[in-house]
Amino acid sequence: MSEHPVDLSTRIIDSGVLEGPVNRMNEELSELADGVAIVESFSHSIAVDTGAGLVVFDTSVEAKGPAVVEALRGWSDAPVDSIVYTHGHVDHVGGSGAFAADADSRGIGAPRVIGHEAVPPRFARYRDTSGYNRVINLRQFGGAATDLAQATERPFLPPSVLEPDLTYEDQLVVTVGDTEFELNHCLGETDDHTWTWIPDHKMITAGDQFIWMFPNCGNPQKVQRYPLEWAQSLRAMAAKGAELFVPSHGLAIAGADRIRGCLITVAETLEKLVADVVDAMNSGAVLNDIVHSVHVAPEALEIPYLVPMYDEPEFVVRNIWRLYGGWWDGSPARLKPPSDQAVGAELVELVGDIQAIIDRAQQRSGEGNHRLACHLIDLAIAAEPESRAAHEARIEIYTNRRGTETSLMAKGIYKGAVSDSQAAISGELPDTKFVLKLE
Ligand SMILES: [Zn+2]
Repeated sequence: MSEHPVDLSTRIIDSGVLEGPVNRMNEELSELADGVAIVESFSHSIAVDTGAGLVVFDTSVEAKGPAVVEALRGWSDAPVDSIVYTHGHVDHVGGSGAFAADADSRGIGAPRVIGHEAVPPRFARYRDTSGYNRVINLRQFGGAATDLAQATERPFLPPSVLEPDLTYEDQLVVTVGDTEFELNHCLGETDDHTWTWIPDHKMITAGDQFIWMFPNCGNPQKVQRYPLEWAQSLRAMAAKGAELFVPSHGLAIAGADRIRGCLITVAETLEKLVADVVDAMNSGAVLNDIVHSVHVAPEALEIPYLVPMYDEPEFVVRNIWRLYGGWWDGSPARLKPPSDQAVGAELVELVGDIQAIIDRAQQRSGEGNHRLACHLIDLAIAAEPESRAAHEARIEIYTNRRGTETSLMAKGIYKGAVSDSQAAISGELPDTKFVLKLE
């Protein structure tokens, strides 16, 4: 049995030392208070026993749903009255089918599902963009190019996921038995987030508004996220004076001062980043200048719950630009740019031969200038997609770069580049147009 999550979180926060993994995904149940339990999983599932049935927050991914239900059933035999989706991401709603199956096996109806009113449109979007979402998740989590064709055949949103029965706009108070749940909408990681204040337990469930890592409001492959509104939601939560704070990833946190300290620290970090980017925009700076000049203080990124292990500030900077600006980066040449192939071919012609570009890319890589190295090698491949030498160099260059990155998102995309070139050399690429291939 793993250490109790609150004991571990208390030690990590108070010491400032991230001594072990905080996302344990072990499907183990821990009691957080009398009548409150958590099953730690891909997303956690948090249960409150009201005496008139359980209210459950999130359900983990589809594959983990049965194990989560089994763990909960080792703790309580009460029917599940309601499931609250903290938001519509598949790692939070995917296991809902297992809860329906559990109700079915007891001869009762499926639990009522509650979520923000933007959850059903999200599900509709997932159905419309199923292949895209499969592909980007595969890349984000380090999948190989050869898995792509297969991945796009399965629906991104599992068909067993339960649709919300009850939705709301700004705030909804639900009472089950004698227990009151104050559901609050916020923007942040998504447009459909719900954080819940449960006064009887002086407790908050926060969804992904606190993830024990640098907030993932910069994801390069996903729809708009909202850093400033994210910070505002953390301040609203901090004002509640909660004694127990339960995010859907990472560890539950106990103690009003400790909780408030964590929430305000993350809020201030986001607010400063937004302010710095907006100040630069207001002064007329273009995106490239901002990306290379606005940074989060390095010491902030060493705080155990702000380490950029999943997302990273550079990506958040771009998301802030997109939110307040637009898709154009401010460079006139890139308003209507030539194709990468044309730029690569021009470079090859200027230099006289592709090998010189490959050599320079490898030299820059060896010097640790990964930005230039990747840029050069990708132009070489754009010019000559069939060049085996270029793909071999690219594998080495992106492997080097991946080794220097901290965020899973960057690592995943760079690993995807390695996989693409490996597949190009071996001729095993799927017949898709979004990956490089040898003809
Ligand atoms: Zn999540």
